[in-house]
Amino acid sequence: MAERISLQESLSKILKQRIRETPEYRKHIAKESLEKITRGDFEDFQLFQLQNTLHYVYNKSLFYRELFSKKGIEPGEVQSLADLAKLPLTAPEELAEKPLRFLCVPLGEVSRVITFTSSGTTGPQKRIFFSEKDVEVMTDFMGAGMSVVATSNDVVQIMLPRGPVLGQSDLLARGVEKMGATPVITGTEPTPEEQIQAIERHGSTVVFCETLRFNRITVEAKNNRDLTKMGVKALYLTSNYLSDSMRVNLQSAWNCEVFTHYGLTEMGLGVAVECPAHNGYHFNEADLLAEIIDPETGEVLPDGEEGELVFTTLTREAMPLIRYRTHDISRLSVKPCECGITTLKKLDRTTRRLESAVKIGEGDEIYPAMFDEALYTIPDIVGYEVSIGNDGVKDSLTFQVEIARKGAAVEELVRKVILKIPPVQKNVKMGKMTIPEIQLVTPGSLRKSTRAKKLIKDMR
Ligand SMILES: [Zn+2]
Repeated sequence: MAERISLQESLSKILKQRIRETPEYRKHIAKESLEKITRGDFEDFQLFQLQNTLHYVYNKSLFYRELFSKKGIEPGEVQSLADLAKLPLTAPEELAEKPLRFLCVPLGEVSRVITFTSSGTTGPQKRIFFSEKDVEVMTDFMGAGMSVVATSNDVVQIMLPRGPVLGQSDLLARGVEKMGATPVITGTEPTPEEQIQAIERHGSTVVFCETLRFNRITVEAKNNRDLTKMGVKALYLTSNYLSDSMRVNLQSAWNCEVFTHYGLTEMGLGVAVECPAHNGYHFNEADLLAEIIDPETGEVLPDGEEGELVFTTLTREAMPLIRYRTHDISRLSVKPCECGITTLKKLDRTTRRLESAVKIGEGDEIYPAMFDEALYTIPDIVGYEVSIGNDGVKDSLTFQVEIARKGAAVEELVRKVILKIPPVQKNVKMGKMTIPEIQLVTPGSLRKSTRAKKLIKDMR
């Protein structure tokens, strides 16, 4: 039996590979290769790559040359990782507005352009350019991330939109091949029953799917099938927040381990992977630097404090990004992780995106993960949508909840669960909000959801 390897091992391998590919670094450390990769090795390589990247964007990217010149910054000023904080932040809006100004290679050298709108937002579309080398970097990390859940004996079923060559599914399949397992792309068109049949036919042992889609498949299929007998040993869920209750439901429905990851198209899709401790992620420190900033002031926050996640790419060729704001709220820790990883930092689960949080009543924040945690404790809930209204005096919440069981009892149960959510409870009690309205709808009626769809609609 092949053994699963930890992200520490697979990232150390990637780092060794980067060192092999970078003769200037080998010269810099006066060594041909490194034996055992330590935290210090990661940081030394990161600083070297950061300095290279800064010179590179200063020479090649219209956006960064102008930005640095305007702020009077010389790339050579950055002498330590901490010096990164001296550089200005890059906002997603700037990238959306003029993507070509970020480009560092001729258009002819771009292998892949991804055009997208961030999930959960209605913001402007972004275009991200990747060179052939960037595609290799992306799929290296996808393979490394997959090795946390799979070995070379596994068949990984990819239930993402089929898409074009170098589309998300194709890239992931390449990553799976890189780590030696067998990818099977079944797309998103099949019905839940057909997806289950595909698992049987291919002998899939790992399933990769969007969280909410997979939850839907599970709820719809588990009444007719014993999913615990399918031989699936790990679920790898992406794109949507995975609440604790949904995780427990999926674990018991399939009798297998559930993993999630954190991805961002701007950073090359895969960014961070949940480790077997299941309470956070380790991220691709061979290719990315992460910081946590105060979203209001932009100041860097110390390790362990909650704030906005900011990334700098270290090995990107077509479109490097410096201190790119993700608008995701998280926390970074340097303490050794319970999974045994000592050389990598750890990222908290991101529970909310700045733009998906909405204020209600007395100014209390609500966001989708909060409702996910509450609602998916009720068995058989397939999906939901919330709209916020105001009658001139009070705010109101209307929930459309997809569930097979209907009736006054279920409706009351849903209302009870929602009323226990602290900001809802507080504002209803204070008379700032009406009692939430619940509308039960048949499973499938909210299905036409796209990835960009908002779970909370503010109609005020
Ligand atoms: Zn860990």
